[in-house]
Amino acid sequence: MTDIALDRRHVPADLPERIQHYIDGEFVDSVDGGTFDVLEPVSNDVYLQAAAGQRADVDRAVAAARRAFADGPWPRMLPRERSRVLHRIADIVESRDARLAELESFDSGLPITQALGQARRAAENFRFFADLVVAQADDTFKVPGRQINYVNRKPIGVAGLITPWNTPFMLESWKLAPALATGNTVVLKPAEFTPLSASLWAGIFEEAGLPRGVFNLVNGLGEEAGDALVKHPDVPLISFTGESRTGQIIFANAAPHLKGLSMELGGKSPAIVFADADLDAAIDATIFGVFSLNGERCTAGSRILVQRAVYDEFVERYAAQAKRVKVGYPHDPATELGALVHPEHYAKVMSYVEIGKSEGRLVAGGGQPDGFTFGNFVAPTVFADVPRDARIFQEEIFGPVVAITPFDTDEEALALANDTKYGLAAYIWTNDLKRAHNVAQAVEAGMVWLNSNNVRDLRTPFGGVKASGLGHEGGYRSIDFYTDQQAVHITLGEVHNPTFGRN
Ligand code: NAD
Repeated sequence: MTDIALDRRHVPADLPERIQHYIDGEFVDSVDGGTFDVLEPVSNDVYLQAAAGQRADVDRAVAAARRAFADGPWPRMLPRERSRVLHRIADIVESRDARLAELESFDSGLPITQALGQARRAAENFRFFADLVVAQADDTFKVPGRQINYVNRKPIGVAGLITPWNTPFMLESWKLAPALATGNTVVLKPAEFTPLSASLWAGIFEEAGLPRGVFNLVNGLGEEAGDALVKHPDVPLISFTGESRTGQIIFANAAPHLKGLSMELGGKSPAIVFADADLDAAIDATIFGVFSLNGERCTAGSRILVQRAVYDEFVERYAAQAKRVKVGYPHDPATELGALVHPEHYAKVMSYVEIGKSEGRLVAGGGQPDGFTFGNFVAPTVFADVPRDARIFQEEIFGPVVAITPFDTDEEALALANDTKYGLAAYIWTNDLKRAHNVAQAVEAGMVWLNSNNVRDLRTPFGGVKASGLGHEGGYRSIDFYTDQQAVHITLGEVHNPTFGRN
């Protein structure tokens, strides 16, 4: 890295030098004292050590969470009381959004403006579930004169939450908020590439009045700390977001315990642009869809399928606009595309850029951006004429790399859209009402946006089909995942028993 680049890099004030676990209301080191290196992605310098949790640390965290669940006030509080704590958490997160964004951007390489949006979304997740639990109603079924049956909804116990590095704080909030709102206690295992923002939760929760032991955090590698959490017999629920391959491993490891699993996994989502679409809007949205969040977005529209009549124009305009996407230092408010999270991930994305050069026609990017030949910067990269059997068409790259493919008919568009193992999101651009709904309903994706970017309503189901996930969270579905719905049956009239063994 050049001296000029080092000078221009922003290092937040008051960075910690080490990050510990947070167990039973205390910051603690690993039982064996082990740590791992944490890098920042502009220079790839190691800037702190984080405690590397092992089975013994997970055992302590789960024991604390168990105690808080069995004996503590949290699961027994009125929904309104828990809701107040959750609203206070949202208030605190909002009041610290600038600092949160600064740390997140430094640790993950996300552009600061986008990190700020994610911090605010994290607050909104807490507010949303704070409101939802006080509005929660459960079913009662009457059999006139004979029986009344009702649902007794209860928290399940210790929820294990395992999260990825792409929008760390926001994705943690997405699991923490519903798990806590419903009265569970939790052990969070954040991604090892980006532990910085997660270390702030403990202080925020203490300040908001969350009782001791309800929230526990164990840092560490997935194969160690994550694995121990998944295999722990006292953790009945695992909510996981990450790669499909990791999801398969977790699924297998959770099987002997028959745990409740929620899996939000990878994607290779199509954006289908028909010739009758509003091309200006479609280009803006599909640029944002794959280059925002550094392309490290599970719902990225990373395969753009374009109808032949507008294909050449689309490719030309798209490539020109992609070249103008502003690559820059993550802390610079003008930056649209920052640095990828980690050199390992950078190497993976760059290997796909090289593969793409023999699979498609490179029309933008294709390497490091001008002036950013250090750290983990990748130029916005666009390949056109990509065939359906290409690896860059089939495999999740999770970086600022997009494949564009032409099609002729609606049937061909659908066949191409559905021809991957993934099924997370789909984006459809057309002004034909019938086509819009027919394609939306036939596309194999958990979520579809019509003439729209990825704008999410927190009440709607979130999740993927095929290799993109198992189960849905979002709104009441998250409440369902984190609670047991016990059916209680009561006889009102005479007891009608078939009598066995009468004399
Ligand atoms: P990853 O699967 O490598 O890691 C995710 C988490 O799992 C990390 O905390 C990691 O430490 C842990 N882990 C790894 N191996 C484990 C094991 N054997 N047992 C238990 N835990 C383990 O994923 P990543 O690289 O951090 O994140 C990127 C992936 O996440 C992409 O595939 C992306 O599409 C996906 N993602 C999906 C969504 C969604 O909602 N569908 C959202 C964001 C990211």
